[in-house]
This record gives sequence, structure tokens and C-alpha cells, in this order.
Amino acid sequence: MTLEKILIINDDIEDILAIQSRLPKNIEITTASQWQAGLLRDISKYDLVIIDNDANNLKKSKGKEILQKIRSNNSSVPVLYTSFQPGWVDGSVFQTRNVEVVRTDQVIDRIGNRFGLELKNSIDISNPEPELNLILTYNPVKGYNPGIFSDGKLLVVSYDRHSQIRAREVLAEQIRQIYTSFEWKSDRDLVRNIFVYDGINGRELPGHIAQSLGHDVRMCVNLMACKCDWDRKQRLSNSSYVNLYPVECGGSETLGAVADVILGIKRPGIDYNRLVISPEKILEKAERFNLR
Ligand SMILES: [Zn+2]
Repeated sequence: MTLEKILIINDDIEDILAIQSRLPKNIEITTASQWQAGLLRDISKYDLVIIDNDANNLKKSKGKEILQKIRSNNSSVPVLYTSFQPGWVDGSVFQTRNVEVVRTDQVIDRIGNRFGLELKNSIDISNPEPELNLILTYNPVKGYNPGIFSDGKLLVVSYDRHSQIRAREVLAEQIRQIYTSFEWKSDRDLVRNIFVYDGINGRELPGHIAQSLGHDVRMCVNLMACKCDWDRKQRLSNSSYVNLYPVECGGSETLGAVADVILGIKRPGIDYNRLVISPEKILEKAERFNLR
């Protein structure tokens, strides 16, 4: 089977550009946002359609609806369905005929294999070294007020006291503000590491936020979780976006020490080598799921 025309449906222009940059020039690529794709009448001229799931825990999948629409008009065009987290993809997608679900960062190689293509090497876009570390908690971080430290090396999003039963409310407002001020698609390359506190009062919300941030920034997020409700937290950390570390209830001491390590500060009475996460690991760039 030859590959001459591809339709890529994805709301993330960076993903589209990355795919495009590695395919041979003679392949004609048409791109559409999920919304635009909903308006397309005839897709029978394409040899392959690549649809992205475009979802995370905070928003519903758009790709699933577009796939249904496409299949109801055209039963045969092969579809590669991409997601950074195939585990989140709705079961109906897997059951749709002639659809293969692939991890987004593996789609280019999959196309190469399936159609026997010679792929171009990925372009090494020399991104600046990511410097920004984010600590997110609905409690205080010991030694730190909320704010930005050391020219954007550290952003502490915290609360001035233990928020207790207000935890979920506080966290929801924090995440709303983060999502308002960050343009993830352009700013995510700046993020080096994310640390999210997960206590008992936040219930499932901190974990979901960690997963969603991981998805949107395309990197592993460190979930600093107290031992309460540990089984649930452990199940969640099976997600490819979350590293789980056990901390004390409240998390303030450990997160304060993490902040110290990030900024290169040493306070008396803290043995930084005995933290649940080693100083090396704190300073190491998080594992990323970039296409590039
Ligand atoms: Zn606890």
C-alpha cells in the first residue's frame, strides 16, 4: 500500500510539525484541528488519517468524537489514533475497525514500518535548558512563601496555612491560575521538574492534576504523597506520567527541603541525602515525552 496523502487531526501544532518534519517530502500532508476536522466532508482521498485523542483528566477526548464521525461517513480509511497515554483512550476507539492506537511519540516510526518508508532523522531543535521547577501544594512549603525564586528557577504555588477541608477548593483555584498564566504549548519546554503534594484532604484531585500536568507538559511529574490512602495513590502512579514518593502528612518539610536543593540552599538540621528523593534526582531534568 502506498502512502501519498495523510490527514493529521490534532489540536497541538507542535505535534503536527514534528510529524511533518520527519516524513518524506513527496507525501502530501493536510492538517486540521479537531474542530476543523468536524467540518470535513470527504476524507476518502487520504491514504491515512492520524487522529490525536486530545484529552487529559481535565478535559474530554475530542479525537473520539471525530473518529466516530469519520467512521460513519467512511468505513475504510486506515486510522492511526495517537495518545501520550493509551491507557486513557476510550475502549470504543480500540474496537473501531481499521484503527490502531499508538503512543504519540512512536507514531512516526509506526508509519515508517507500516508503509516501508525511509524517515528523516528528527531535527535537533536546540531548546534552551529547561530551568523552571514547580512546587504545587495546598499547604505551606517550609521556609518559602508562594512566589517565584531565583529568576524563575523555582515557582512555589502553596497556601499560607494547612488548608485541611478546604484543600480541594484551594488546589482547584491554584490550578486555574496556573493554567491561565501558562501557555503550555509554548512554555512547556521551560519546565524542568514538577512536584505536587498529595495528602488526604485533596482526595483524588492532586493525583489527577499531576497526571494532567504531566500530559500537558509532556513529562514525568513527581507526586509527593503522604501515606494516607496509599493504595489508591500507588495505583495512580502506574500512569507513565507520575513518579510517586512517600512524604510526611502535610508535606511542608519535604517540599521545603526540595526547594532548598533546587536553589542550592543548605539549612542546618536537614540531611538532604536522606530525603525520599535524592538531591541528584531533584536536580535532574524530568523524563520527557517529546516528539522531537
Ligand atoms: Zn496523610
